[in-house]
Amino acid sequence: MLIFNKKSDLSAFLSPLINQNKSIGFVPTMGALHEGHLSLLEKSLIENDITVMSIFVNPTQFNNAEDLEKYPRTLEKDVEKMSFVSQKIIVYAPSVSDIYEGNTISESFEYDGLEHQMEGQHRPGHFDGVGTIVKRLFEIIKPNKAYFGEKDFQQLQIVRKLVSKHKLPVDIIGCSIFREKSGLAMSSRNERLSPEARKKAALIFEILTKAKEIFQNESITETIHFVEKSFKKHPEFELEYFEIADEETLLSTETKDTTKKYRGFIAVFIEKIRLIDNISLN
Ligand code: AMP
Repeated sequence: MLIFNKKSDLSAFLSPLINQNKSIGFVPTMGALHEGHLSLLEKSLIENDITVMSIFVNPTQFNNAEDLEKYPRTLEKDVEKMSFVSQKIIVYAPSVSDIYEGNTISESFEYDGLEHQMEGQHRPGHFDGVGTIVKRLFEIIKPNKAYFGEKDFQQLQIVRKLVSKHKLPVDIIGCSIFREKSGLAMSSRNERLSPEARKKAALIFEILTKAKEIFQNESITETIHFVEKSFKKHPEFELEYFEIADEETLLSTETKDTTKKYRGFIAVFIEKIRLIDNISLN
């Protein structure tokens, strides 16, 4: 498996392949790989001649210094996991200076308001950081297709907006959420939970699933009330938000429109670890 740490080396390797019209699939990650990441990788391997996976804990998308510091960094293990999937994966694991060249700040992005909802509201500057890194990685790798998980549904919609606004020549492929057996959405952050908390965290998807059932017959207000009430019964959780929003605009709503698709979005703390998840409601 080829591992590049420098964008100049990676570009030099990829550019003759691009000239030969080889299709490039790209899976950006922050590492600490789990099966959710690997499912994106497998899709890319099927759909493209070449697959590049990046592993980079992007400092500019963290609004919390402790979260950045504690984010798991496990490159050796990650490479081993990838090698079980395929030896043909190209890995790009740059340093902060290779990406930011001594100027570790975000550019400003405007995503038609998508950035002001949910994660954008609770993590100021997060989506400027995401836009900055995704755009830079696309410029270096020049992928035909890039794979993003619905686990970060707001991020997926923001990346789609980034691509359409900046007319970037890449197809964005959304991939469904990969879950642990318990239903807990796989996340690198799950590794930081104690075994007890990891078990308890299955409640998040249980409540989301029940909320989906309730949404079929009850109002949006009733559904939100159910979720809030459910978490109040479990003081080990601190609910940051549960919102029901239109999938396209990400605007939360209190009235149902049968022509629209809705999702329930949640952010919740357990053992001070922030977990997010979402579910399609109709
Ligand atoms: P991250 O390393 O957490 O930034 O995630 C890298 C990519 O993997 C993003 O597109 C995520 O949405 C996606 N991803 C993370 N967890 C999952 C999951 N459980 N199922 C599917 N995709 C995921």
